[in-house]
Amino acid sequence: MTFIAIIYYERVICNLKYKLNLKEEFLDKNDKLLPVCPLCLREIPPGVPQSLHHLIPKLKGGKNGPTILVHHICHKEIHATLTEGELAKKFNSIETLKAHPRLSKFFDWVAKRPANFLSKVPKKRKT
Ligand SMILES: [Zn+2]
Ligand SMILES: [Zn+2]
Repeated sequence: MTFIAIIYYERVICNLKYKLNLKEEFLDKNDKLLPVCPLCLREIPPGVPQSLHHLIPKLKGGKNGPTILVHHICHKEIHATLTEGELAKKFNSIETLKAHPRLSKFFDWVAKRPANFLSKVPKKRKT
């Protein structure tokens, strides 16, 4: 009885290792090619509109500051939601941007869309 159980578990572990190896290989090949949007955590495939967001707005002294590569659609949502002043003051990191109530809803929503999903961001939305 225990003998059979051991064989069974060995096979399960073997299977798992096999799957993990395959996944690692897959990631290795694709990792460098596809950047990931830090906001919605989807990949940014080539050809999909994308842009650099200055965590500290250029007008507020962030010209040479840190930037993040994001989907154009995610980028548009940031600027539709927050003013340059708010961005500079509070929402100047990936964490605070993701914690914003309207933005976090948007990133959750867009995360379920395909990576090449494009839609016009509504100009005004009731919160
Ligand atoms: Zn921006
Ligand atoms: Zn995104």
